[in-house]
Amino acid sequence: MDFNFSEEQTMLRSTVRSFVDKEILPYIAEWDREGQFDPAVMQRLADLGLMGVCIPEEYGGSGMDYNSLAIVCEELERGDTAFRTSVSVHTGLNSMTLLQWGTEEQKQKYLVPQAKGEKVGAYGLTEPGAGSDVASLQSTAIKDGDHYILNGSKSWISLCDTADHFLVFAYTDKEKHHKGISAFIVERNWEGFDSKATKGKLGIRSGNTGEIFFDHVKVPKENLLGEEGEGFKIAMAALDNGRFTVAAGAVGQIRACLEASVKYANERETFGKPIGKHQLVQQMIARMKAGLEMSSLLVYRAGELKNEGTRNTEETSMAKWQACDFANKAADDAVQVHGAYGYSDEYPVERYLRNSKAPVIYEGTREVHTLMQAGYALGYREDKPLNKMLPAWEENKARV
Ligand SMILES: Cc1cc2nc3c(=O)[nH]c(=O)nc-3n(C[C@H](O)[C@H](O)[C@H](O)COP(=O)(O)OP(=O)(O)OC[C@H]3O[C@@H](n4cnc5c(N)ncnc54)[C@H](O)[C@@H]3O)c2cc1C
Repeated sequence: MDFNFSEEQTMLRSTVRSFVDKEILPYIAEWDREGQFDPAVMQRLADLGLMGVCIPEEYGGSGMDYNSLAIVCEELERGDTAFRTSVSVHTGLNSMTLLQWGTEEQKQKYLVPQAKGEKVGAYGLTEPGAGSDVASLQSTAIKDGDHYILNGSKSWISLCDTADHFLVFAYTDKEKHHKGISAFIVERNWEGFDSKATKGKLGIRSGNTGEIFFDHVKVPKENLLGEEGEGFKIAMAALDNGRFTVAAGAVGQIRACLEASVKYANERETFGKPIGKHQLVQQMIARMKAGLEMSSLLVYRAGELKNEGTRNTEETSMAKWQACDFANKAADDAVQVHGAYGYSDEYPVERYLRNSKAPVIYEGTREVHTLMQAGYALGYREDKPLNKMLPAWEENKARV
């Protein structure tokens, strides 16, 4: 596997980095303190072509490879987890799922405007009583002529108040357990749809997260994604892409922790020398560096497998699990390196610590990934190619 970055990828990284330096970092402490989500940032990301980085040009995207998406997520999370989360749900969980499973009509109608950044997509799987245990979801979509009638609610949905299109998972046949779940593309402006933001979050405060509600929403049958009963499989395949973006973001979070800690450790003095000269501080710095390098390699390996069109559930799960754990630990260490100053929002590290917790919970908790990896090691789990795979990058390029 070749982990060297192309000239195009290096330019992409520097574009996103300067965007973050100019458009996010000067304002983020205040946005975070005020719990303010600024949708204009999404518009500026769209103007830079960052809302559809790895979507083929034919479908309105930038046609770059999957590791370019990782670069965008890494650099955005250096600014704040909220913006990387937005790209994760919009591109990773929604647009890439449409690319993989959508009909040509669905791609033209929904994927193209999303990849251009004219419309925003989100992902509605979790419910008040169904998180890790997806099959216990209660939402239903009952066929009625040319429509399905969708009822239920979803909780903890990123971009709940701002997205235009939602991928929603609901039972079309409860008797069949997880094989009775189907996936639908749902528009915000349909009658019976409502949303409400959740207040009082530990982190990602400048992001928009909350509930969405469906009260007899009429979903045209053309908006069924895949076949009836394929919803569980589609939801899990979507997570292969969402988790990849979360892992990449965690790499950016670790880098931000390391950079802030190195700077502080070289400035702050105790006992007549910079704290960076104390071995126990060095241990924390070294742990961040190790986490950064290991996480990067895991992420780029998963990205290369996506580029090749190979199934990568196992490798993506490992990258997501390890990178998020490393990021959470790095943020904890970064606050420790900063001492009491790390405990105030005068420095960014307390925000890193609060933000680093959700990624250990969403898109498969730490425990879910631990169980998955044990399952692979013990021979209880094995992945076969899906009936519709995410297209390899070569295929995407050929579509220009
Ligand atoms: C900021 C944020 C944004 C989110 N955005 C989205 C979104 O856009 N779309 C969406 O659909 N969801 C979203 N989520 C929801 C997220 O995916 C779920 O919270 C997650 O899947 C965990 O589900 P849960 O919270 O119900 O926890 P539970 O599943 O109830 O788990 C509670 C605890 O029990 C543990 N546990 C559960 N089962 C087992 C087991 N079998 N063995 C061992 N331990 C177990 C878990 O690991 C966890 O520690 C978001 C969550 C957050 C915090």
